[in-house]
Amino acid sequence: QAPAERRTIRELPDELISQIAAGEVVERPASVVRELVDNALDAGATQVTVKLLAGGIRQILIEDDGCGIPVDELPLALKRHATSKIRSLDDLEHVLTMGFRGEALAAVSSVAEMAISSRTPDAAHAHRLDARSGELSPAARSQGTSIEVRELFFNTPARRKFLKSEATELAHCLEAVKRHALARPDVGFTVWHEGKLIEQWRAAPLEQRLRDVLGDDFIRDSVAVQLQVGPVRVSGRAGTPDAARSRADHQYCYVNGRYVRDKLLAHGVRSAYEDVLHGNRQPVYALFVEIAPELVDVNVHPTKIEVRFRDGREVHQAARKAVDAALAVSRAGQPDVGTG
Ligand code: ADP
Ligand code: MG
Repeated sequence: QAPAERRTIRELPDELISQIAAGEVVERPASVVRELVDNALDAGATQVTVKLLAGGIRQILIEDDGCGIPVDELPLALKRHATSKIRSLDDLEHVLTMGFRGEALAAVSSVAEMAISSRTPDAAHAHRLDARSGELSPAARSQGTSIEVRELFFNTPARRKFLKSEATELAHCLEAVKRHALARPDVGFTVWHEGKLIEQWRAAPLEQRLRDVLGDDFIRDSVAVQLQVGPVRVSGRAGTPDAARSRADHQYCYVNGRYVRDKLLAHGVRSAYEDVLHGNRQPVYALFVEIAPELVDVNVHPTKIEVRFRDGREVHQAARKAVDAALAVSRAGQPDVGTG
């Protein structure tokens, strides 16, 4: 084989840099939904509305009643590495917002058509920024932000080909909203698809939200978890052994309000069931871990779905002990005290 011809080193154009970076965060419509709902929650929204067309492939519109973006900052919101959430390394180490990388809007706008409409409390009216043309125009809406994303991956056909059917993409979008809804029962969520209301979760206490999202069975067949072990607080609900399923599809873990997939945590929880669950039976649970932000690194992966704990063993033990204690109470036949 002939050696490859030497080509000169060049800096990539900005647009291409963004498209490459987008590959890490935007895999499918559900990734866009996740990022935009994160932003709405960071903005203090009490109501988040998600409107989808064609499983989110044709359109994702997310509306919130949060703090809004001042008109002079709208263009900045679209820039890579531009964020209002951190300013220093110290901020990063104590971060409690969902976002902080300043990447999502830049990434999404590099692989889809996008427009932001926003209004701050003191603005006379809203403004709309079209990401592609950069055109800024007056718009009508109350306080908050709407972000409209159309034709995902229209300019990156190779990625578009990886999308599944509309029904599958819709299911992933719904799952993304569900994950947020479980962590934020104080926020109302509605999801529309093709003009039809398909989910509506009103602000409610946690137990009611768990019931609304995961069903009556989940509440009936689970026990309240509530334990502090050292610096780790674990709360939520864990299913009884009878509620276990053949698939691991009802396992929700949160660290400081962020949905995570963490092997260590999952293993800690699973080990509480080791004597009562056999074979591949999967426990169901919705567990919320609270820990000082400096004891957990959330900047491990661009999607922030993975975290790294400073003391993994401590967290593993806390998860196991918390679930263990809850299951022991249920075995003893004591009345379930609820999630409080
Ligand atoms: P990050 O969330 O990491 O800061 P994003 O690219 O998601 O980065 O957003 C960039 C900035 O745009 C945010 O820091 C925030 O100031 C602003 N922003 C984005 N979405 C909203 C929203 N729904 N409401 C208010 N501000 C928003
Ligand atoms: Mg964000």
